[in-house]
Amino acid sequence: MPNTVHAYIATAADAPLSPATIERRDPGPHDVVIDIAFAGICHSDIHTARGEWGRTNFPVVPGHEIAGTVSAIGPEVTRYVVGDRVGVGCFVDSCRECEPCLQGEEQYCVAGNTGTYNAIGRDGLPTHGGYSQTIVVDENYVCAIPEGIDLDVAAPLLCAGITLYSPLRHWNTGPGKKVAIIGLGGLGHMGVKLAHAMGAEVTVLSQSLKKMEDGLRLGADHYYATSDPDTFKALRNEFDLILNTVSANLDLKQYLGLLAIDGTLVELGLPEHPIEVPAFALVANRRSFAGSMIGGIAQTQEMLDFCAEHGIGSEIEVIAADAINDAYDRVVASDVRYRFVIDAATLA
Ligand code: NAP
Ligand code: ZN
Ligand code: ZN
Repeated sequence: MPNTVHAYIATAADAPLSPATIERRDPGPHDVVIDIAFAGICHSDIHTARGEWGRTNFPVVPGHEIAGTVSAIGPEVTRYVVGDRVGVGCFVDSCRECEPCLQGEEQYCVAGNTGTYNAIGRDGLPTHGGYSQTIVVDENYVCAIPEGIDLDVAAPLLCAGITLYSPLRHWNTGPGKKVAIIGLGGLGHMGVKLAHAMGAEVTVLSQSLKKMEDGLRLGADHYYATSDPDTFKALRNEFDLILNTVSANLDLKQYLGLLAIDGTLVELGLPEHPIEVPAFALVANRRSFAGSMIGGIAQTQEMLDFCAEHGIGSEIEVIAADAINDAYDRVVASDVRYRFVIDAATLA
């Protein structure tokens, strides 16, 4: 089997991504080899490739929204057969023994989960992500993509989808709940679709009203511009749950003021700089400020099945690999509707 595959690689924080080849390991007993069809571009890829979190081990191939087809399996694989449509998200391994791992919350593995890229795998080699032709992953960290969801619109579910699904479930989203989503980007648009499908009343808080028509079409009941100071007066004490998907630092005081008694603002965005939480805005209304990171494998499968049942996929723009750097600039400029997805056939 040829293990040398084409990829797009980040070599330094200030360098554009460029074509390269990387090596994939031979499948071990429990590994599946996946021919990647599509890989979504998550803002986390950009934070990493541009060194914004200060912990990138260059060179690295980003990409943790992976959809493709199983092309080979190790001898002890039981969950998948060649030809299955599968996805891989943000991690490819974990210790499998700690409490979170045993409870299906592998993302919070005490020993740390093994990132799909920018980590060291069990084979001792750096992990490389989805901007490549293939990936080799232990079957326990692979999800099945149900029939009825095309692979291109499925790819972003593996990060953006689960990152919103998990807190929506954790904070009991459903009919009668008022949920606000800050930022209508890759994560945010999935939040709108999922919260709507769960029966909540959904409000988008976007920088402007430019994307309002889309937001309402995706399932939002209300849409407000945060550039308008009246928004924060009109929606004071309004929401049970606010999910912040913004990749930059926001003035949280204003947003916490939108929470009802016992309401929770969940931070999902991972901006470069620390977040300031003003105590007065928090203690009023017994508000909570929380965080949430992706979701476990079982819940990711549950989310994929939920999406199939409700006809949910990501809104995407498919690009060729040589457009990755332009796409990065457009994501940073909030000019994405609503996820760029790389067609892996263009990598060669
Ligand atoms: P994205 O597609 O760029 O969406 C972010 C959205 O935030 C933008 O579309 C924009 O929406 C809004 N925004 C951007 N800059 C802003 C600013 N300066 N002020 C106010 N709003 C702004 O990014 P994404 O892929 O959804 O990721 C969002 C963040 O989540 C990133 O930091 C990423 O690293 C993080 N993330 C976290 C997890 C997790 O597990 N917690 C998982 C994946 C990603 P509007 O134009 O509508 O305002
Ligand atoms: Zn991501
Ligand atoms: Zn663990």
